[in-house]
Amino acid sequence: MTAQRLPACVHRPPCPGPDSADHDAARIVASHPEQGWSLLCNGIVLFEDTGELLPDGRVIAPHRPAPQPRRTAATATASLR
Ligand SMILES: [Zn+2]
Repeated sequence: MTAQRLPACVHRPPCPGPDSADHDAARIVASHPEQGWSLLCNGIVLFEDTGELLPDGRVIAPHRPAPQPRRTAATATASLR
């Protein structure tokens, strides 16, 4: 796999990269709770329902039950209509 340089983590020790098993342990650099997502410093967008969008465009489905099922990506999208 080609290692893509991301505008990256400045933390010490460095946070796990997007391909690491514990990638969601990276620090949050931008948080938008009103929209239900956060940006991690390894480039991953982490959604409130634990779904993830990786910097290379891959999507990881939610893997933990949401603490409050009323705001998932699906309901947030539906409420915009
Ligand atoms: Zn970091």
